Amino acid sequence: MIDIEPFSENVRRLWQRMNPCTLCPRKCRVERSEGQTGFCGVGAIPLVSSVGPHFGEESVLVGTGGSGTIFLAGCNLGCVFCQNYDISHHLAGRHVTVKQLARSMLDLQRIGCVNINFVTPTHLAAPIAAAIELARAEGLNVPTVYNTGGYDSVETLQCLEGLIDVYMPDMKYAEAGVAGELSAAPDYPQVNFVAVREMHRQVGDLQVERGLATRGLLVRHLVLPDDRAGTAEIVDFLAEEISVHTTINVMGQYRPCYQAHAHRGIDRRPTVDEIASARRYARKKGLNVLD
Ligand code: SF4
Repeated sequence: MIDIEPFSENVRRLWQRMNPCTLCPRKCRVERSEGQTGFCGVGAIPLVSSVGPHFGEESVLVGTGGSGTIFLAGCNLGCVFCQNYDISHHLAGRHVTVKQLARSMLDLQRIGCVNINFVTPTHLAAPIAAAIELARAEGLNVPTVYNTGGYDSVETLQCLEGLIDVYMPDMKYAEAGVAGELSAAPDYPQVNFVAVREMHRQVGDLQVERGLATRGLLVRHLVLPDDRAGTAEIVDFLAEEISVHTTINVMGQYRPCYQAHAHRGIDRRPTVDEIASARRYARKKGLNVLD
């Protein structure tokens, strides 16, 4: 078990939030350090599915060296259309120590990755924060990216201030009924809007230098068929309550996976018109829509 005493106050607070666990809005209150697991299925030891350069992310995260992706197993959402359900729900991964996680970051930087990109980090925010501190003490200087499903609690995010450079949250739904049906999280819209506000407070609008994101907020929004994602409401919130300069990737690659065929409306891909219309609306509201 790791000795958390040498770490910062924020890391120690995150560790306390894991025992009993209130790291995310589910508040399962299980003792993670004793190996108990809640909705996300993972204890206090990071479960890593893969580590390596990734060239499929947004171009501002890729550059020539790729995004240094650390894909965490487990998830605090239960999306019925999950494309990575073997990792998220079947927990395909290997356990690593905080030191090994820090070493992976330094290795990714050494081979030329332009950032460290934590995919699905929320349920492992405590060991990730500790590992970032260790890695920075040993020379990590590329930006850190928090690539989250967006179901994050403000208290946990506050403890990450200064450790995360780029927040990349999903904004999946604007309606509680849809969020409950499709991700088992009826409070997702309300939680997500507050979380995005906190992320923006910490890092501001996305800053790009020489084609690469260095700091700021980059929102991902997946267009669902029949507008089940509530695109207009999310775009309106960003433009009117966060910043008209918000950078957003309005993604059109939805396809029915996992259990999606059992749910009305999402058993097909969105049409070309549905995707174009979502992007058009975001541009009309003035957001910085990635191509
Ligand atoms: S991080 Fe996991 S155990 Fe903790 S509250 Fe969230 S889902 Fe539950």
